[in-house]
Amino acid sequence: MSEFVIPCPPQSALPVADSDKKFPVRRIWCVGRNYADHAREMGHDPDREPPFFFSKPADAIVSSNSVLAFPSMTSNLHHEVELVVAIGVGGKEINSESALEHVWGYGVGIDMTRRDLQAQAKKLQRPWEMGKGFDQSAPVSALRSVSEIGHPAEGRIWLKVNDSIRQDGNLNMQIWNVGETISHLSAFVELGAGDLIMTGTPAGVGPCSAGDTLEGVIEGIGRVTVSYVDELS
Ligand code: MN
Repeated sequence: MSEFVIPCPPQSALPVADSDKKFPVRRIWCVGRNYADHAREMGHDPDREPPFFFSKPADAIVSSNSVLAFPSMTSNLHHEVELVVAIGVGGKEINSESALEHVWGYGVGIDMTRRDLQAQAKKLQRPWEMGKGFDQSAPVSALRSVSEIGHPAEGRIWLKVNDSIRQDGNLNMQIWNVGETISHLSAFVELGAGDLIMTGTPAGVGPCSAGDTLEGVIEGIGRVTVSYVDELS
């Protein structure tokens, strides 16, 4: 008989590309601003700030090709396409030189954001969770391992809404690279195997609506696509 008083929640996981294996997701960490052009479009100075972090629940993950009900409590749902780092070996106070040894693989994700709630939270100096960490707020592609693709330091990253390109950047435009990001984050929390890091978005964030299909791609890494509908039938 189980020692647990209710059934254990399912383990959040992502598929591994071209495999029947899965990567178990422990936590989802996100970098606040990590591309100068996006920092500028949000009204911030890209040069001065060290990276800062927020999180989403592990079960905010949605796999690619999902059809999702448009989220509640927002009329300004934004897309942010991002490189996702999958941590395979945990650690704390990791130095940036050895940080990549902690990475299992990479994927592409969309940090879905209820921008109206986030803007209100900023204004009232309240937490960002309800703008960032809501249900199904983290569509992520299948992951590819470091043994397959290495550590991509550059590559086009773009996002389309329906047929139009909204975001178009390159991984080499990140203010803090993956090693530096891991190093900073691991000073605040001990990273664990299964943690994901969404590493920030290039410029061009904007709203989407029910009826839209989003497609996010990073060259050499993967593709994630989700569609929003008014209500699931
Ligand atoms: Mn983001």
